[in-house]
Amino acid sequence: MNGPNVRLILFPLPFEGHINPMLHLAQILHSKGFSITIIHIHHINPPHPSDYPNFTFRSIPHALSHSDITARGVVEIITLMNDGRCVEPLRKCVSELVAASNIGCLITDAHWHFTQSVADEFQIRRVVLRTGNISAFLAMVGLPDLRRKGLLPSSEDPLPDFPHLRVKDLPAVKAQCPLLIEQLLSSILIQTKASSALIFNSFNDLEHEPLLRCRQLFSPNPIFPLGPFHKQLPRTQTSPPPQPPHSSLSWLNTKPRKSVLYISFGTLATIDPHEFVEIAWGLVNSSYCFLWVVRPGMVSGSEWLESLPDGFVEMVVGERGLIVKWAPQREVLAHPAIGGFWTHNGWNSTIESICEGVPMLCYPCLGDQMANARYVSDVWGIGFLLGDKLERGEIEKGIRKLMTERENGGILTRAKDLKEKADCCIKEGGSTFQSMQNLVDFILTT
Ligand code: UDP
Repeated sequence: MNGPNVRLILFPLPFEGHINPMLHLAQILHSKGFSITIIHIHHINPPHPSDYPNFTFRSIPHALSHSDITARGVVEIITLMNDGRCVEPLRKCVSELVAASNIGCLITDAHWHFTQSVADEFQIRRVVLRTGNISAFLAMVGLPDLRRKGLLPSSEDPLPDFPHLRVKDLPAVKAQCPLLIEQLLSSILIQTKASSALIFNSFNDLEHEPLLRCRQLFSPNPIFPLGPFHKQLPRTQTSPPPQPPHSSLSWLNTKPRKSVLYISFGTLATIDPHEFVEIAWGLVNSSYCFLWVVRPGMVSGSEWLESLPDGFVEMVVGERGLIVKWAPQREVLAHPAIGGFWTHNGWNSTIESICEGVPMLCYPCLGDQMANARYVSDVWGIGFLLGDKLERGEIEKGIRKLMTERENGGILTRAKDLKEKADCCIKEGGSTFQSMQNLVDFILTT
């Protein structure tokens, strides 16, 4: 096989936190000479083809009603989409691509376990992309087996083999539909074992030991830790027309070094109006400057800011604080005015913060976020966990701790050290650089 004649098919899960890393991976692989086709689910968070003029895009239907999508949780939607309704459309799409090009492999999100049978049918290799970190993935996929064997301790206890995690940190333990989550995790484990290789958006120096365990569990399949993806994006040849900087960046330009707390809970998490008010008061009382992303719909039952306490905007918004619906997060985190990140610890946010050496205040909400937060706080020592309840006094304390004690506690030094490791791993000779080369060789070897 030869790079320029080889097409790769990539199939992301239709949620922003999964689509973005898959598209980043696609851009990196395109820069290595591969042609790229992205298959996506019709009408659910579709990517914008005009942003990727070098890729071809195909969409497949999902046969879910609008109410199925709006009324159900993420796990239910993923389970429904894996239940057979997407098989035929995917088969048709892959069969046309196989007839037209030399396919190197099918790269799918780990959650798309149904895709293994399609890859097998067309005798193409399926490579699994897990967009989260390695440790949380291993802990989660191991859970159903522990329960089956009766080895699951009670929820406050450390998880066997993962002393930094407690049983209650795993999504299936606290969730309303634990059985559904465990079934999904079991299927992911089985079909990842049946695949040909596994990619993570993580890097060796960050997760050396979990990587060794992962290699054991999925042996003989190769494991490629290729992160951080967003730091390896190729420069585009045609530069886009100059854009004015986003309002959040111009506002940050007026602030002193490391003086601003950035707050964002990602693209899925929701909070209730009472918690929203507590956050607002915690911010006021902390006295720190803040840039706060409040996604429309993030506060249950509200369009946007209606639940803010009276007088809040007049009191702090403008000079001391800025509230936006969306911020260019990677640029924000790289801005010298940012001193800390209050995050829900989605993996993308976590690795973006690690790459800029920004310490974190952790408030995980769902999925693997709790496990990510424990690693940030207890393993890498680059942040603190906020308590379970959003209460103004605790919030104020947490913010002060992050913004004032970060220097004394060594948090900043460790964050800087990890940032340097992230910078190094993608340079020639670094672990990710080598891993990327190994993946290219793997794809080109029939
Ligand atoms: N993001 C952003 N601006 C925002 C909110 C989110 O650029 O205002 C990006 C963020 O940089 C990250 C992704 O959206 O890449 C969120 O992914 P993550 O895994 O952190 O959380 P999820 O949204 O999946 O819960």
